[in-house]
Amino acid sequence: RFDPAHLHWLERHPALGDILAVPCAAQGLPQPTWVATSDAVAEQLGWPIDWWQHPSALAVFSGSALWPGMLSVATVYSGHQFGVWAGQLGDGRALSLGTVKTGLSHGWDGLELQLKGSGPTPFSRRGDGRAVLRSSIREFLCSEAMAGLGIPTTRALSLVASPLQVQRETLETAAVVCRVAPSFLRFGHFEHFAASGNHAALQQLVLDALALFPPNELLPETDAPAVRLLRAVVARTAALIADWQAVGFCHGVMNTDNMSILGLSLDYGPFKFLDAFEPTHICNHSDSWGRYAFARQPSVAWWNLQRLAQALAMLQERDSDDLEAALALYPPLFEQAWMARMRAKLGLVGSHDEDEMLVQAWLDLLSDGRLDHTLAWRKLADIEAGGLDALMHAQKVRFSAWAERYVDRVRAEPEAASTRRMRMLSVNPKYIPRTHQLEQVIAAAQLADFEPVRKFLHMLARPFDEQPEHEAYAALPPLWAAEIALSCSS
Ligand code: AMP
Ligand code: MG
Ligand code: MG
Repeated sequence: RFDPAHLHWLERHPALGDILAVPCAAQGLPQPTWVATSDAVAEQLGWPIDWWQHPSALAVFSGSALWPGMLSVATVYSGHQFGVWAGQLGDGRALSLGTVKTGLSHGWDGLELQLKGSGPTPFSRRGDGRAVLRSSIREFLCSEAMAGLGIPTTRALSLVASPLQVQRETLETAAVVCRVAPSFLRFGHFEHFAASGNHAALQQLVLDALALFPPNELLPETDAPAVRLLRAVVARTAALIADWQAVGFCHGVMNTDNMSILGLSLDYGPFKFLDAFEPTHICNHSDSWGRYAFARQPSVAWWNLQRLAQALAMLQERDSDDLEAALALYPPLFEQAWMARMRAKLGLVGSHDEDEMLVQAWLDLLSDGRLDHTLAWRKLADIEAGGLDALMHAQKVRFSAWAERYVDRVRAEPEAASTRRMRMLSVNPKYIPRTHQLEQVIAAAQLADFEPVRKFLHMLARPFDEQPEHEAYAALPPLWAAEIALSCSS
């Protein structure tokens, strides 16, 4: 039986105390109801999947109660938003409940639980501390979809709705998501202590980040903790952005306060999985300059890493050359990671000189024809059976020329065609949380029908599997899908 009184909580950042994390009580949601919970996250926590049936669970996960040993703290961070220094930000609508001991995984112990939307904190500025049901469903489902895709991400344990009204462009209702991650440390936490000139706190945070989350990445031995940390974050970020580009994910708000030190996808707002492959796509309606357009994500991540390095430079009075050298690793690491993913998606095992041209020509076919990114990659596994013919109809001649080169290339590999096909289907997903599908799930939930959220969650947990009952979700998006505008409002 699940007994929350026996949970083992880990103490985090004891040396920093309320310089980093300020105690703050949640304001619980009135008349809360469960929308969904993630069995996969419960399992990671070591909890039974019916944990939420515990008599006090709904009160805790709607912000009205705490289990013994839980905290309720908001952390301070700063950051650059849309390329401009924004000063102090902080958890304006998030509260950490503490870190549950889970045992080592990838050398890291513990998972932090964080409520999002549980009322104002000392960092709310003009915000109400709430999150609307619409954006909470998007965050909940996208977190779990990312995990299903094998992409590093913060997770979502639970989603609770309430009739409480909150004002956005229109009146909407509130919700609370419980997010879960080894840590929610952001670039912005480091920028904060650098900007406020708190050398000791910055140094402590660097040491904590290295001790709590020892880099798995191969790092040359170096004495300076700041350099070790930056190298690790550079490597994690390069891998993460390569994952995003490979799956067609556009984050929408890559401000430095939305960048995870652990290389996790973090803070799902106006994100979008591309339907038609448009590298210049801007998913955030408020991003009028296209700073966070899909194709710009790799270079924006590098810019963000430069801001992190700048903050860490405060600790490196003499030799910030080492930080420069760590930063310089990003472009080649990203290129390698991206090309490795492209090769896998094309089903290539070996590596040939002409592979880059093959990839580029394929992406040009997708973007010139505005083809559906997910469907085109998925159907590539069946190219020899004519799987792509319908999609490529308008570019028949160019496509045949490319297909001939591609088929020659894969036939020269030692692997059996059936093995290659299976491998391609295991890296090119069939199901992604498309914007228009999320809109439909949200519309039902706003009428208190939460079944579509749960159904979508189950489907997204297995995005590479054929799920005949969900075939309709793998169809080309309807025309109206391209008209949906996503704003920062959440
Ligand atoms: P975001 O653009 O969502 O990454 O948020 C940027 C900053 O605004 C963070 O400090 C958030 O905590 C804060 N914030 C966003 N929405 C709200 C809200 N409704 N109430 C309080 N703070 C908010
Ligand atoms: Mg944020
Ligand atoms: Mg946000």
